[in-house]
Amino acid sequence: MMLVVLLGAPGAGKGTQAAVLRDRLGIPHVATGDLFRTALRAATPIGLEAKAYMDAGQLVPDDVTIRMLEERLGRPDAAAGAILDGFPRTAVQARALDAFLAARGGRVDAALLIDVPAEDLVARLSGRWICRAAGHPYHATMNPPRVAGTCDLDGSPLYQRDDDRPETIRARLASQLADLDAVVEHYRSTGALRTVDGREPIGEVSAALGAALEAVAAGTSGRA
Ligand code: AMP
Repeated sequence: MMLVVLLGAPGAGKGTQAAVLRDRLGIPHVATGDLFRTALRAATPIGLEAKAYMDAGQLVPDDVTIRMLEERLGRPDAAAGAILDGFPRTAVQARALDAFLAARGGRVDAALLIDVPAEDLVARLSGRWICRAAGHPYHATMNPPRVAGTCDLDGSPLYQRDDDRPETIRARLASQLADLDAVVEHYRSTGALRTVDGREPIGEVSAALGAALEAVAAGTSGRA
């Protein structure tokens, strides 16, 4: 079982790197934001409960989020592990995850922080566009589609998520950076934390994350 937590502020590139790690490790990419959006589209009780918080750029309450994540990790495709993206976002969630894994003889093997200064994040986030059909991500300046407003991969229209609009971004960053710090400190204290520079190009960030994971797997990373 390999349980990797990807940490970073919104816009740090977690989703992009999670896809790379998924292909490399052969374990599912579990993003709580995606789980909430899927639940909302299906109008499940969790989706409807989460909607107001998501629209306001706020965190969904811990109990709802933890229940949803544990249900996801209990599915067969996660038996060999998972890459968590967007969870944990609070110290309460981090402790709940540790307890859930400990009960199954596991632990968080690595908590990988993709570090990007706060001032870079608003610029990155306000350029993000997502395809309607499958959520393929684009960026107005860093990763534009070949045809404006259209997904390269499936031709579906691109849209900007409500929570990627500038006014929502500022609220989201302010409320989430403090929580991120608490989670980072949690994994610093357990010894699982590894930090990479998220200002580097995508390929270099991937390489740095891969090297950090190899060091963890080889037991040479100085983990106490
Ligand atoms: P994301 O796609 O990770 O930016 O998540 C979109 C929204 O889903 C967030 O703004 C929150 O409202 C909610 N969300 C996702 N993950 C969590 C989490 N671990 N804890 C609380 N709320 C979350």
